[in-house]
Order: sequence, then C-alpha cells, then structure tokens
Amino acid sequence: MRAVDIIIKKREGLALSKEEITFFIEGLSSGEIPDYQISSWAMAVLLNGMTEKETTDLTLAMAASGETLNLSAIAPIVVDKHSTGGVGDKTTLVVGPIVSVCGLPVGKMSGRGLGFSGGTLDKMESIPGYRVDLSKQEFLAQLKELNFVLTGQSADLAPADGKLYALRDVTGTVPSLPLIASSIMSKKIAAGAHAIVLDVKVGNGAFMTNLEDAKHLAQMMVAIGKLSGRKVRAVLSDMNQPLGEAVGNAVELKEAIMTLEGKGPADFKEHCLVIASHMLELGGKAKNIDRARKLAEDKLSSGAALKKFKALVAAQGGDVACITAPENLPAAKYIHPVRAREDGYVSMVHARTVGETAVDLGAGRAKKTDPIDPAVGILVHKKVGDRIKVDQPIFTILANDEKKIAPAEKRLNLAVKIAKDSQEPLPLFYDVIA
Ligand code: URA
Repeated sequence: MRAVDIIIKKREGLALSKEEITFFIEGLSSGEIPDYQISSWAMAVLLNGMTEKETTDLTLAMAASGETLNLSAIAPIVVDKHSTGGVGDKTTLVVGPIVSVCGLPVGKMSGRGLGFSGGTLDKMESIPGYRVDLSKQEFLAQLKELNFVLTGQSADLAPADGKLYALRDVTGTVPSLPLIASSIMSKKIAAGAHAIVLDVKVGNGAFMTNLEDAKHLAQMMVAIGKLSGRKVRAVLSDMNQPLGEAVGNAVELKEAIMTLEGKGPADFKEHCLVIASHMLELGGKAKNIDRARKLAEDKLSSGAALKKFKALVAAQGGDVACITAPENLPAAKYIHPVRAREDGYVSMVHARTVGETAVDLGAGRAKKTDPIDPAVGILVHKKVGDRIKVDQPIFTILANDEKKIAPAEKRLNLAVKIAKDSQEPLPLFYDVIA
C-alpha cells in the first residue's frame, strides 16, 4: 500500500477501506508517512467527507494508536461526559460529583482552555496542590475507591490524534465534521468509559456556530459510539451567550462550589441537572429521565454532591479549605463594573467576545505555553431577555493588571446589545440525539 494512492482515492471522493485507514494512521504514528502527505490527505477528507463507516474506522485506528484503558474491571458501567467547549462551561465540576455520588463511577480526563473557550483542568488548578497528572495506576485506583476521578488526558491516549490535530491546526483542516468527530471520539474510546454523554455546544462561542452542523456532528459521534460498542447520547446546548455568570478560572470554580451549595445561577444549575440526568439514565441508574432528574436534584440539595467534590479535591492533593471557604481561592486585585448605557432589554451577550476578553485579561492563553492567571475573569450579570436600566452593571471585570481594564471594558461594550422591545430568552438546549 502507498500513502499517495490513499490520498488520490480520497481526492476522487471514494470511500477508504478499513485496511487503508489503518495503514495511514499507523504510518502517521510511526513517522513513515510525512507531514505533507498527512496534510494533503486531511484536506481531501475536509473537501470530500467520509462515510459513517470510514469515520468509525478512523476513530478506532486513532484510539488504538496509544494506550487504551479497560475500565470493566472497575465497574460494569463507567460514565464520562465531554463538552465540545464554550465560555463559562464549568459543568463537569458539578455533574461529576452528582453522578458519582449516585453510585455511577465517573472517570474523566479533561483538557485545558483552547482559544476563547475555557478548560476544566485550568479551573481545577486554581485549587492549590490539586494534581491533574495522575498516572494510569492512580487513575484506576481512585476510580475504584472514590468512584470519581478528574484529571488530565494521558499523553499516550490516542497520540495519532494529537499529531493529526497539530497538523490540522496549521493547514486549515480543523473544520471537517468527520475529522472533529473522530478526534473527539478516539480520545473518549481510548479513555475506556462505557457510557458517554456529549454536550455539543452551538453558537458564536462554540466550535459549531450553526445548529445544522452541530446536529450533524452529534449524529456522527453517536453513530461512532454505537458502532464501537459504547452507549453514547448527545445533547445540543446553546453557546451564544456564556453559561452561568462566571467566566475565568478561580471564579468559575467558585460558581461551581456555589452551585453545589444550592446557590448557583439558575441557567447553570439547570444545565447541570439536565446533563447529570442524561448521564444517570444512560448509565442505568434510573429507568427514565424524570427519575434521573429527581435523583440528581436530591444529591445536589442534600449536600452529598458537595461532599463528593471535597473528597475528590482531597484525593488529588488539593487544599480542601479552599472549597469550604472559596474566599481563599485566588482573587483579582481590581474589580471594575461595566454599566449599561441605556434602558431596555438585553438582546445579545456575545459569548465569543466575552471569552476572548477573558483571555486578554489573562484567564486563557494566546500561545500554548503561556501561563494563565487563575484570579482574573469576567462576571456576566445580565442575559438575553433580561430587563436593564441605565447604569446597572452588565459585567464585572476582574483584573490584576490595571492597564487591561479599559480595553476589556471597550470590548465588552461591543459584546452586548440592548433593544427597546422585550426579547425572548435564549433556550438552554436545542435537541437530544440518542
Ligand atoms: N476537539 C477535539 O478534540 N478535536 C477536534 O478536532 C475539535 C475539537
């Protein structure tokens, strides 16, 4: 077999066989196929697409390129969730403890922030001492003992995806649905969970900006899961405005703790209860979604989920005093309100612009190696549909560098629109693909 023939076949719009895909991914992993051929192949896939079968073969080949975890010895069903990324999305911090305390093991390997979208690891690292680099043995032992792990992705999980993704990033081949679906699913499959809930975000603050593409991606990932023997369900959720009020790292962690204490913002709490319900139902802990919801609500209101979160933090070396008293978490030096300039109804809080402004303040990275500042971020006080009066705060900027406040305020003023007439609130969810 020759790489060039596989590229030509895809260029002509033909479907590749499992053997061809496996050959290509093995060659990519070993270094035998050079970057220019991989990039050319990725462009042919982007232009001509892949069938469901090809996408599944690609996913399985990438999952097999490194370590794969077998969690069946831990429990018959281990659940996982994955969000395609957004602004203010701290859902894992709340749903992980809820689901785990219901008796369903949650083995979660999370990522760092990417561009304007935040990352769970960065948020958890706001807790002094919290380790996100557990070894495979530590991962398995903690999952067995505590029913819950929240750590970083092992470097050896689907390494072929890591290499392909780095090339896609610089060759204009990221926005290909089969390449995105196989990239996400290869890592999920290698991480070993039996049941996976995918939270596919849609909107200006997400990878997928329109509902049709998001639905197509969700359908593809659910089909790959099914063909590879996993139970997968996808929900399509809104990311046109930030989720909850907090955007940043320590500040999002604080909001997650408040939610676990029963005090979080209504939209975020509702989002968490819906995701947790799907995980519980898919994982077989409840017969239907209503019972799953009741279970999730009970664990949240009883404080059991908060207790579980503290146990997680302690197990991974974090300072639990920061969870009991979140005022001990890193806090910004400057607190600056951004006020409404007119009366009316909020018609837009542009998630992407808010996310980008948070990155500018230091909450995210411009380059992969940049350090982040856990203390900085933005509080979003108003959402689409809310009534607002002139001079009321719409945002609060949390900064550590005084010079960054004015540019952040300017940008945030562009992120918001106020209309004279009343506005419909945005939905939290659009669809469920099972
Ligand atoms: N997230 C991934 O892991 N891979 C993609 O290709 C896109 C988003």
